[in-house]
Amino acid sequence: MPKMQYPHLFSPLDLGFTTLKNRCIMGSMHTGLEEQAQGMHKLAAFYAERAAGGVGLIVTGGVAPNLAGCGFEGSAILNQASQLDGHRGVTEAVHQAGGKIALQILHTGRYAYHANSVAPSAINAPITPFTPHELSVSEIEATIADFANTARLAQQAGYDGVEIMGSEGYLINQFLVVRTNQRSDDWGGSLQNRQRLAIEIVRAVRAAVGEHFIVIFRISLLDLVQDGGTFAEAVQLAKALEAAGVTLLNTGIGWHEARIPTIATMVPRAAFSWVTRALKAHVGIPLIAVNRINTPDVAERILAAGDADLVSMARPLLADSQFMLKAEQGKSEQINTCIACNQACLDHVFEGKTASCLVNPRACRETELNIEPAAVTKRIAIVGAGPAGLSCALSAAQAGHQVTLFEARSELGGQFALAQLIPSKAEFRETLRYFSVMLALHQVEIRLNTRVSAADLAGCYDAVVLATGVTARALDLPGADHPSVVNYSDLIAGKVAAGLKVAIVGAGGIGVDVADLLLHQPYTHSGHELSQYLSDWGIDKQLNQAGGLLPVSPTQPARELWLLQRKKGKPGAGPGRTTGWIHRQSLQRNQVHLWGGVQYLRIDDAGLHLIHDGVEKCLPCDQIVVCAGQESVSTLYGELQALGQVVHLIGGAELAAELDAKRAIEQGMRLACAL
Ligand code: FAD
Ligand code: NAP
Ligand code: SF4
Repeated sequence: MPKMQYPHLFSPLDLGFTTLKNRCIMGSMHTGLEEQAQGMHKLAAFYAERAAGGVGLIVTGGVAPNLAGCGFEGSAILNQASQLDGHRGVTEAVHQAGGKIALQILHTGRYAYHANSVAPSAINAPITPFTPHELSVSEIEATIADFANTARLAQQAGYDGVEIMGSEGYLINQFLVVRTNQRSDDWGGSLQNRQRLAIEIVRAVRAAVGEHFIVIFRISLLDLVQDGGTFAEAVQLAKALEAAGVTLLNTGIGWHEARIPTIATMVPRAAFSWVTRALKAHVGIPLIAVNRINTPDVAERILAAGDADLVSMARPLLADSQFMLKAEQGKSEQINTCIACNQACLDHVFEGKTASCLVNPRACRETELNIEPAAVTKRIAIVGAGPAGLSCALSAAQAGHQVTLFEARSELGGQFALAQLIPSKAEFRETLRYFSVMLALHQVEIRLNTRVSAADLAGCYDAVVLATGVTARALDLPGADHPSVVNYSDLIAGKVAAGLKVAIVGAGGIGVDVADLLLHQPYTHSGHELSQYLSDWGIDKQLNQAGGLLPVSPTQPARELWLLQRKKGKPGAGPGRTTGWIHRQSLQRNQVHLWGGVQYLRIDDAGLHLIHDGVEKCLPCDQIVVCAGQESVSTLYGELQALGQVVHLIGGAELAAELDAKRAIEQGMRLACAL
């Protein structure tokens, strides 16, 4: 029986008044649809698809209980019966699809990005410009009543429960610790006073909704900020919350202002399930493990080990709405795995755009981007098996076309196949596994080691799609042909050995990744990575320290690196709103020389000559790695057009500037839908 592959994951959970069909919760994610006209209709389709895909319980994105608690002006709020219609559409769609759904109640406190933010004390958050107003006692009491009101409304809207957001550094969490709570009344000072708000909210919510309604509390087990709570305090709170009527405890890790990565791709899988496990001995209610759980195997391992009773996955359900169904049917190889890149989900939300997913451009576009069966089956040639070509080939085949995919190299992936060799991007290999399995399933004919010309293709196909991608830009500098000069692709592919003193020319995403490669060991998914990650970022494995933080020991870097760019300013931010700071911190810790505003002069046996800070210098490096951007490979386009062939350009072949796999994959899918 395929189901037995994951017996713990697919074991139902009886909560007394209701039963969850399995141990997978879809974690809360703000999508940006919540605030749009017609957004609730789109949200209903988004959640219904995940419910049909078999997830045990969905938790919505955060909804504020009052205006002060909104994340930004106009963000989602539920405080009046007149707002119920959109929510009813969501709950009905989920229930019709056989799922269950809980509404997350989120009061952002001092994280609110508006002038009317409130907090236990008037202390600014480092990530917002607004000074919060200190809540008065009557305002605190009103806030508790607002939580209860929203929970009552959620019940009226048909939700199966609510999740009270008490972690990640939001309002309730702000009350819990002295970092943000410096009150001297009944709501601050002693631990009992600081925990009062959390407990009173749970009591009020439980009283409002009765016994037969799921109440999840998301508790912060590791704050990962200075003057944060201790684990012993979290244990005490967990016990009090259980007594106050919580059904399930979801375990949160890290405040938003923490400077420790907790969900990005360099964080090892299931990196925090040991923290959830540490709480298990202290409470009787089921616990939910979170963070970097992205495959059924990882989920099963956590549950089988007894670290938690349920697992929460958010981004993996964006990446593949059918995750649970595929796991249940023994088709895990067909899961489109979340690679934790944050590029289309969190980065979008922080940029005020609708969330989606790099590996699944349909996410949050369920009502508008669908692969419909083609009216006429066409013979399609796709040239290039990078992300653009792979995505186009799969979507075209899913639409029913007869697809042949030509690739000059011996493997699939193009530039993405290089990306997966960067230690912190080992997850990227999952995307190539997915495409490889799915192309075979949909009978795409793949011709590797085949560099095609216009003459090979013209007249043989109804349409040709050129996904021939990009090639590395060469340096235009005296001495650019010196033996010490290598391009990033040869270095990453291991065709040349790395030097000990290396200058990286170009500090875009690839320059930063090359630095990562030169500083870190290859990733192996072993226990070693977890210990290394915890010690690199100063996380207290003994759970004795406030905030879970230990001092970080200095690193002895593997080699001396210079990361260079001509633009002024410090290089190394890399692309990625939510991940750039992680790269910067890692580069600084490894003492990489970050030089902006340089002018390259020449290369010779002495090294790389340049002007930096107005002074001519020679870097005594034994290797110069060129990461100076890329150029499109698209010569076939004109040739095919001249031969009268219908031809389309996608991905890097169309435009090298601002290219990333997100654009390449989306463009591939969109073109396939239009063929
Ligand atoms: P390519 O990936 O260049 O693929 C084109 C393919 O066409 C190649 O396989 C090539 O061999 C083949 N081809 C060319 N001509 C012919 C021909 N005549 N016949 C047959 N085949 C041919 N992007 C992100 O979004 N996030 C990241 O974190 C990220 N990290 C990266 C890290 C590294 C180290 C690198 C190198 C890239 C990274 N990228 C990342 C960029 C991403 O990989 C590219 O944007 C993406 O691969 C471009 O896709 P594409 O399909 O347009 O082209
Ligand atoms: P890039 O981001 O455009 O960076 C190119 C770098 O080369 C810049 O630092 C540029 O800075 C420098 N440069 C450009 N022309 C040069 C020249 N003629 N001589 C010397 N230096 C030159 O490109 P990339 O790093 O090659 O990355 C390619 C694409 O992959 C990017 O669009 C990126 O989005 C994507 N990618 C994404 C990620 C991610 O984590 N999201 C990671 C890797 C790659 P100066 O001009 O200031 O010198
Ligand atoms: Fe995961 Fe990246 Fe998709 Fe976000 S964009 S869900 S991190 S694969």
